[in-house]
Amino acid sequence: MKILMCTSEAVPYAKTGGLADAVSSLSLALASLGHEVKIVMPRYYSVNRDTLKKLEGAMGVPMAGGEEWCAIYSTELPGGKSGKSEKAASKKPVLVYFIEHEGFFGRDGVYGNAFEPDFLDNPRRFAFFCRSCFQLCRKIGWFPDILHAHDWPAALVPVFLRYGEKYRSHHNTASDFNGQNESFEKTVSVLTIHNLGYQGIYSKDSFYYTGLGWDVFYQAGFDDWNMMNYLKAGILSADRINTVSPNYARETLSQEGGFRLDGPLRYRSDAYSGILNGIDTEVWNPAKDKYIPAPYSAEDMKGKAKTKKALQKYYGLPESAKVPVVGMISRLAEQKGIGDLFGPSFGSAFSICLSMNLQFVLLGSGEAWAEHEIRNLSGRLSNFKAEIGYSEELSHLIEAGSDFFLMPSRYEPCGLNQMYSLAYGTLPIVRNTGGLADTVQNYDQKTGEGTGFMFDYLSPNSIYDTVGWAVWAWYNKKKDIDAMRLRGMAHDFSWNKSALQYVELYKKAISQKPGN
Ligand code: ADP
Repeated sequence: MKILMCTSEAVPYAKTGGLADAVSSLSLALASLGHEVKIVMPRYYSVNRDTLKKLEGAMGVPMAGGEEWCAIYSTELPGGKSGKSEKAASKKPVLVYFIEHEGFFGRDGVYGNAFEPDFLDNPRRFAFFCRSCFQLCRKIGWFPDILHAHDWPAALVPVFLRYGEKYRSHHNTASDFNGQNESFEKTVSVLTIHNLGYQGIYSKDSFYYTGLGWDVFYQAGFDDWNMMNYLKAGILSADRINTVSPNYARETLSQEGGFRLDGPLRYRSDAYSGILNGIDTEVWNPAKDKYIPAPYSAEDMKGKAKTKKALQKYYGLPESAKVPVVGMISRLAEQKGIGDLFGPSFGSAFSICLSMNLQFVLLGSGEAWAEHEIRNLSGRLSNFKAEIGYSEELSHLIEAGSDFFLMPSRYEPCGLNQMYSLAYGTLPIVRNTGGLADTVQNYDQKTGEGTGFMFDYLSPNSIYDTVGWAVWAWYNKKKDIDAMRLRGMAHDFSWNKSALQYVELYKKAISQKPGN
């Protein structure tokens, strides 16, 4: 199949969350199954042009009021065909195309910056991006079977397909560019929701810019309490919709988990499903992790003890094997449960560190109040250390060197860190929600079964109690802890299984589409 991934993020070019990892890993996994996969994304200011190839000529993208002109760059996604292994050699390369538009993307920040957290012109930036995906196909003379859009920034791709592109005359589309008589007639769309909390809700004043008529505003379901909702229109227009874990798919159908889109999702429930993300097992593998001082595996765990020491040293903590280390890597956002952990005067981190014999290390950045509270805590507690910022390298050291990994998410579509933790023999302490519930199995004190520690209701007390339970098990149930580590490490979290499920999803989208 020919698949075009339309996305605002992909590693290693732009990343603000798990979406970026998922798009690149899924693309590589699909390519290794023999599919032809391309990625299209904006060329943000931070993506260095020197390493990219420029396509000849400029490209015009019809938007309301005229054409926007842009340049196209391309490169090959690392980790594909040019890898050294035999398996890699048989893969098709995944080409990444970058849409360059100085006015929209020639600035710092993907969605915003410190002064303007959500750029005012985001509805225009991403409407333009979505439209440019179609022009790109025409320019390169390549028409995909599947347009796979990711999250709200790409949600207009299914809308443009359904309300125009699919039915445009052949003569003024492909033939204008390459003399080919191809079109999007047979193309179907898939929309993946990586996080329902972000929907792209803006004033409908900028709707005109999409070039779609006001009849489409209502038909496609853009309307949202007198505002305009990109994700909602995408959900109602895509041929298939999925999210990134089966349990999160269920939760989003409820009023509590649906972020006001449970209605449209229930309406589309016959076309809606959940597919668990995988992890990149080349990068997140304790046996060949280049960021840790002593790689290790389930057969020989000595390296984990050494890495724990290195982590303690990094944070300036006593280098003791006897004290459990609880690690945390997180966007500091309400979704991640940081209110209950670090909220001034009621958060449980302070009492956890004060009353339990453990060490707590954190890496994260995000909301200013949380950064402030965390700095404050590390000044007051000798066993709580934090680094505010973003560091790929340190995140590997934390995953490998910690004994427990804390992830008290309010909601979690899939979550990557708990899977990294399981792969590294680090026991997750998580809330029983979304993808966390699909990947972690709660410890059963009677049988010793399980791979982590879970709680249902999010509150400062439940975080306190569950960390306390894990620390108690560390000191009193050593055998169970060791067995749980190995159980987690034995689990296959690679993309192979998920990629096959996406192939099934694509097939369903193609076969169920009237006319195909
Ligand atoms: P989300 O996408 O909601 O942020 P995920 O768990 O799905 O949550 O993915 C987050 C990804 O970003 C993980 O790969 C995690 O390790 C990484 N990450 C988050 N914050 C940081 C940070 N401060 N430094 C390094 N990596 C981080």
